[in-house]
Amino acid sequence: VYFAKIIKGIAGFYYCIILDECERKGQIFSCKAKGIFRNIGVKPLVGDNVDFEITDTKDLEGNVVKIHKRKNALIRPAVANIDKVVIVLAVESPSPAFYYLDKYLINMSNAGIRVDICWNKTDLNEAKAIEYAKVYENAGFKNIMASTKTEGGLDKLREALKGEVSVLAGASGVGKSSITNILAPKANMDTNTVSRKIERGRHTTRHSELFMIDDNTFVFDTPGFTSVESPTFDKEELRFHFHEFDKYDGKCRFAGCVHINEPECAVKKALEIGSISKIRYQSYKKMYEELSERRKY
Ligand code: GDP
Ligand code: ZN
Repeated sequence: VYFAKIIKGIAGFYYCIILDECERKGQIFSCKAKGIFRNIGVKPLVGDNVDFEITDTKDLEGNVVKIHKRKNALIRPAVANIDKVVIVLAVESPSPAFYYLDKYLINMSNAGIRVDICWNKTDLNEAKAIEYAKVYENAGFKNIMASTKTEGGLDKLREALKGEVSVLAGASGVGKSSITNILAPKANMDTNTVSRKIERGRHTTRHSELFMIDDNTFVFDTPGFTSVESPTFDKEELRFHFHEFDKYDGKCRFAGCVHINEPECAVKKALEIGSISKIRYQSYKKMYEELSERRKY
């Protein structure tokens, strides 16, 4: 039995990379999952840590016999055991969708998943990149500046990913594939090309895929900002998810001020003088209104 991680699933086959310190470490086997999983209602996911038995040493085939306990799992993309999400945005082309970004950040932190922000295409507009990074630093996030054109900042990104299983999320066109291509070693990409062929041949849709970019370091390339669901807490609680508001806590005239229509509101004052970003406040207000609407149903 070998200890491995599922790096890809296509048409009932799970591609498992051996993690055991042994002569087969790093080898990838295509495995079937035995029927027991159907009985216990657990389907293997990309990112799962598993035990498998080798059935064919020549064609590198095997059987998954055990799924280890999951730390967490995302629904869309269906991936397990995420340590961190890195949201990739382009400083322009396409311009960032801040409202979706802000919602996504809240959802992830609600799910207990750490998030870093990577501003890509900084070669197109450095000033904007600096401006945006500052906004999100104030909000309490780690910001990484990158450009796949100049390869600037990719060492910082590598550092942020080291030793972890990360998802590169983000809208289409922001540069996720370009980043993955630079991060993933050649050998890994070759495996990838092979499995892409299988994928096309079987007319399946695109799947999440896990790349080993370093020892114990994995990155998913995923289809984007999928399943951004509305937060499930009360509107009065929303303000605590905007950490740039924290330092104004207790400084508004009214205790329990939600910073919307109240007079002498410290947050709105900070907004006026530019200490709080208009981008973030707009998101806050829109989310607040959404949550108010929902309660009326
Ligand atoms: P994905 O949809 O997020 O995977 O984005 P891609 O990696 O396919 O990139 C979309 C487009 O943006 C491609 O034409 C890339 O060449 C371009 N692109 C990616 N990164 C950069 C960058 O850092 N700077 C510039 N100027 N263009 C980039
Ligand atoms: Zn206030």
